[in-house]
Amino acid sequence: MASWKDAKRQRARQTGGWHCEKCGKQLTERTAIGHHKHYQRNGGQDTVDNCELRCGACEKSDGHNVSIEDLDYRVKRIERMLFPSED
Ligand SMILES: [Zn+2]
Repeated sequence: MASWKDAKRQRARQTGGWHCEKCGKQLTERTAIGHHKHYQRNGGQDTVDNCELRCGACEKSDGHNVSIEDLDYRVKRIERMLFPSED
C-alpha cells in the first residue's frame, strides 16, 4: 500500500516539482508539508488525490477549513493529555 510519503512524491511529480500549492514557494521533499484536503478522521485517505503540497507558513495560516468540531476534537485531545482521567 502506498504511503503518505509516496502520495507527496506523486503529487510533486504531477504539479511540476516541490513547491507550495498556495503561494508557489519553492520547497524540497524535506520542507514540503503534505496537507490532507479531507481530514483523515473524516475519511480522508493517504492518497495523491487527497494530498496538497504546502509550505509551513501556508499550512499554519490556513484556518479556513478548521471546523468547530475539529477545534473541539483538538481541545479534548489536549485535555486528555493534561488531565488524564482517574478511572
Ligand atoms: Zn505557501
